[in-house]
Amino acid sequence: MPDLTPGVPSALSPLVRRIVAPNPGPFTGPGTNTYLVGIDEVAVIDPGPDVKGHVDAIVGASMKERVRWVLLTHTHPDHAPATARLVKATGAEVVAFAKKDKDDSGIVPDRLVGDGDTIEGTEFGLDVLHTPGHAPNHICFLLEEERMLFTGDTVLEGTWSVVNPARGGDMTAYFASLARLRKIPRLRGLAPGHGEAIEEPRARIDEYLAHRKRREQQILRYLKKQEQAKVKEIVHALYGDQDLPEPLVEAAGWQVHAHLLKLRAEGKVAGTTAKAVWKAA
Ligand SMILES: [Zn+2]
Repeated sequence: MPDLTPGVPSALSPLVRRIVAPNPGPFTGPGTNTYLVGIDEVAVIDPGPDVKGHVDAIVGASMKERVRWVLLTHTHPDHAPATARLVKATGAEVVAFAKKDKDDSGIVPDRLVGDGDTIEGTEFGLDVLHTPGHAPNHICFLLEEERMLFTGDTVLEGTWSVVNPARGGDMTAYFASLARLRKIPRLRGLAPGHGEAIEEPRARIDEYLAHRKRREQQILRYLKKQEQAKVKEIVHALYGDQDLPEPLVEAAGWQVHAHLLKLRAEGKVAGTTAKAVWKAA
């Protein structure tokens, strides 16, 4: 297995290197994965948190004038804040999703891209897929030459992605994005935003879909048994035996809320906000 030690570049394929940022945690696993695509011209996917040592490691892995693009899968604080520092060091062009949603990252991209666009280098092409769900401005990049998909926070290794409605997360969109990624032809690998590279893409995406469907069923079943329930009670019923650390209990609440909003849109439950009472429709 290539090295997940922060700051150490490791080659995942002829065109792809990974440097893990020094921000391990309950949501980030070993840390955020920053990917360097290309040799003569480099695209940096997700520069990560604004940590000087991490940016130095990115710049040090290539000649700095070769870093042509900074590509953002989305603008969450563990993926994007190093952008300014990296651009200052390299003059790279910042590329992110075109839609201007509620975004407090302060990042102003040089180039806005959308679904179907391609970032063309001399050695490679990276196709853009809009994959909302984890974040409304989330995009994945497909490296045509190696059929490797950079999934950002849409599919991870070692943990599940968080869908938080309070930060633009949308479970209906998330299911649709997973279903779409599953259909990409000849996909050979996933390079997730956190954790090891995934060598069996479809199996992992199927696991993700099955996990979310299972949660949804559990929530529905629980609500059918109860007169009504709050999100907190549903979380306790679903995760109570797992002894989760506090931040993950909170995140479980976001996931449950996201599922409830999806189920409500489908007419299967009734209720209003995260704190309110929910019941089966
Ligand atoms: Zn994220």
